[in-house]
Amino acid sequence: MAVLEVSEPTTSLNHPRTPRVARVSSGSSTAAVHAGAQHPHAYHSLTMPVVETATYTFENTADLCAFQEARMWGGGNGRVEYGRYGNPTVADCEARLAALDHGDAAILFASGMSAITSVLLAMLPTGAHLVIGDDCYRRTRQFCLTFLKRLGITTTVVPMGDFAALENAIQPNTRLIVSESPTNPYLRVVDLVRLVEIAQRHGVKTLIDSTFATPVNQHPLDFGVDLVVHSATKYLSGHNDLLAGVVVGRAGLVDSLRQALGVLGGVTDPHAASLLTRGLKTLGLRVQKQNANGQAVAEFLSAHPRVSRVWYPGLPSHPDHATARAQLLGYGGVVSFEIDGTLEDTSRFIDALQIPLIAASLGGVETLVEQPALMSYYELSTEERLAVGIKDNLVRLSLGIEDADDLIADLAQALG
Ligand SMILES: *Cc1c(COP(=O)(O)O)cnc(C)c1O
Repeated sequence: MAVLEVSEPTTSLNHPRTPRVARVSSGSSTAAVHAGAQHPHAYHSLTMPVVETATYTFENTADLCAFQEARMWGGGNGRVEYGRYGNPTVADCEARLAALDHGDAAILFASGMSAITSVLLAMLPTGAHLVIGDDCYRRTRQFCLTFLKRLGITTTVVPMGDFAALENAIQPNTRLIVSESPTNPYLRVVDLVRLVEIAQRHGVKTLIDSTFATPVNQHPLDFGVDLVVHSATKYLSGHNDLLAGVVVGRAGLVDSLRQALGVLGGVTDPHAASLLTRGLKTLGLRVQKQNANGQAVAEFLSAHPRVSRVWYPGLPSHPDHATARAQLLGYGGVVSFEIDGTLEDTSRFIDALQIPLIAASLGGVETLVEQPALMSYYELSTEERLAVGIKDNLVRLSLGIEDADDLIADLAQALG
């Protein structure tokens, strides 16, 4: 059970404020609807207004100097001077995201990649080393192995779930362990208890990309993980209509990252933050439906003769089913599977589907389907793809909120 905490917003809303939501014990659906909201909003608006401004005014020089003095002493006086340092609509969304993930504070970024790259750039000095899992978002791996390498920061990629390899990879200069959980596209689930135990023993910080789980299905911070990131483009916003990323953690660490955001500049537009807040209000409903659709579709596919393998953590056949049962509150809305056939057979199956749209991404209300070999890994040869574990006959299905019966009927006709 989370506790909704009402904290002072970092930016002034310019109206007298007596917060109405105080320390309400809540589950994630309640938090998704109410957490962080500071009622009354300006004009007694029920929703947080979109404060669409790039900068903020001062009444006179004395007002400016009072602000600068307060800022020099660290706290600030409840306002900011420029949009890259804060925005009330963005701050409102961040408070809700922090509560949902059981963190003290959250920072929104322009995209999931902006969140990941900013955090890594801020946390890793030249000469540092980090460890990442091999079943990892392709652009995260690319950032570590190319951009960070240029800055003299080295990366070791370890096989998912191999804790001996993980511990062996740790060096005296290792600062961070980065992993997704569940991973893309095989939905591998990291045992966070073991991960945190190893990291803490070596004094190394941990970062989990929890995009596939959402705070409805997993709370990595409760396991002692230091930072959680999400591509809010996916489930958190839920409607495939914006890009955003978020990092959540304890106050001290997140505050130092906020300084980096002001320099690196990957801030979120207030309008996107407002859309994200609206999306969050239905997060609980959407993810429960997507969990149910995921389980139903995974069970249907695993019983189908034309499907040779199904990857879904809610199936006992999944290699991490036991960890998933212990750690997750729901198994999620993504199902990956292999068609019994070639690259072309798999494409024919995808083209025969009526409901799912062919698109990269996941987590929205529309079911999306993709053949990773032709979507994210098109420029690689079959051999190169196999080396990174992507088979030609692999399909990734991101379930939306349609009716499971309709989705299953569609899959059945396309397989036939
Ligand atoms: C999509 C995704 C990202 C990148 O997020 P963007 O919002 O597209 O920049 C990072 N991690 C995972 C697991 C993702 O699915």
